[in-house]
Parts: sequence; C-alpha cells; structure tokens
Amino acid sequence: MSANGEISLDGRPTIIVEHLDPELEDWQALEYKCISEECTNSAPQWHFLLSGLPSASDVGKQLSLPATSLTEQSVETLYQGDRRSKVCLLDPKAEKDLSPEDGESFDVFLFGGILGDDPPRDRTGELRKMGFAGRRLGTEQMTTDTAARVTRIVVADRQHLNDISYVDRPDIALPASSGEGEASSESVSMPFRYVKGKDGKAVMPKGMLDLLASDADKDIMDLL
Ligand code: SAM
Repeated sequence: MSANGEISLDGRPTIIVEHLDPELEDWQALEYKCISEECTNSAPQWHFLLSGLPSASDVGKQLSLPATSLTEQSVETLYQGDRRSKVCLLDPKAEKDLSPEDGESFDVFLFGGILGDDPPRDRTGELRKMGFAGRRLGTEQMTTDTAARVTRIVVADRQHLNDISYVDRPDIALPASSGEGEASSESVSMPFRYVKGKDGKAVMPKGMLDLLASDADKDIMDLL
C-alpha cells in the first residue's frame, strides 16, 4: 500500500477479506493464513489483503502476514468512485452466481471476515450496503477460506461452480488431543460446504482439525 492509501495491485487479481468481528479468533487466524498461502502459491499469484483490522500491527504479528497484506482501513474507504465497479462482493444473497467471465469484469473479490453461523445471520449485509456488485457461490454457506478457494477456481481456472466437487456438511473425525492416546472416537458436524480434496475429504486450513479437537468439549456454534 502506498502512503496515500492506494493499494498497489501489480495487475494481479486480488482477494480482500474485510474483518468484521471485534477480535481475531483462532479459527479466523487459521482461515486467513490459509487464504494468504493459497494466494501466494497459486499460479498466477493473487494478492491478498485483510482490511478493516482493529489494529493491523498486532494482528500482523499474530498472523505473520506481510504489512502489505494488512490494513486498518475499510474496503469502503479503499474503493471509492469508479474504482468500486472493479470490486465483486461474494454474497450468499446475490441474485447471480459467480462465473468464469466475471474474472474479466472484476479485479477484486471481496469476502466477509465472519465466522459462519447456522442459520446464517446475513452479516455479509454489512458489506452489501456499501454498494458493491454481488455474486453468489451457490446456495450453501461456505467458510471464508472455502469461498475464496472456490472463487479462485472459477475465475483463474475458469471452472463453472457446478463442475467443482464439494463435500457438504461433513462429519469430521477428530484427531486425539494430546495425552489421550492414539485414537479419538469423537467427530464434529460442520454445517458448511467445502471443496473436495484429492483424498475425497473436505479441504480445510492447516491446524483446523487440531483446533477442533482441542475445543471438542465446546458447542461448535460457540466457535464458528
Ligand atoms: N453467516 C454469514 C453471514 O452472516 O453472511 C456467512 C459468512 S461466510 C462464513 C463468510 C464469507 O464467505 C461471506 O461473507 C461471503 O463473502 C462468503 N461466502 C460464504 N458462502 C457463500 C456463498 N454461498 N455465496 C457467496 N459468498 C459466500
């Protein structure tokens, strides 16, 4: 980001997650790191920006993300006037689904940095009212990292939403937490849609299963 607040995109497509919660939960930290790593490792690379942070420097330390990926400014301030038409909000309530052609109209894909809830409380509405064009990723609620992953598959790999393989509302077998021995018989139901990985399982951020296992005694809806 330059001194006057302009984002330097180097012509790269960009994922922006506007952080909408007062704090940064462990779950969100894993999701944000995962989005950032996938943006860096994709070919061509995508730029990743986490906006609307309570205090960018603290969160930066917590996430070990470069300063160029963090800002306390809201996307509403960053994208004004004509620049706003280049931003696509991924919105579960949008009328149109995202298509590969949208990669030609939009440079920036915007997501709500919100933990999922079931039923959804439509907090994405906080971004919708800023007036960005919206696109849906089908009818199922995705985690933020899944929504970003699916967007890159549609826009960069030019795959249609319906051609992507998903795992819906999986029951995830948890690893044994430390001190419990090898196996755990516990599982947790995740009320979201995920991309299906090559192993047939839901693709999740690194560390998410361990976090789920360590929090297994809590109600899942208190964590998401
Ligand atoms: N329950 C949330 C709400 O109140 O809006 C949805 C949060 S979802 C975990 C986080 C973000 O992922 C959303 O703000 C949206 O940008 C994106 N997202 C998730 N599922 C989506 C879908 N089916 N279509 C479009 N965007 C989606």
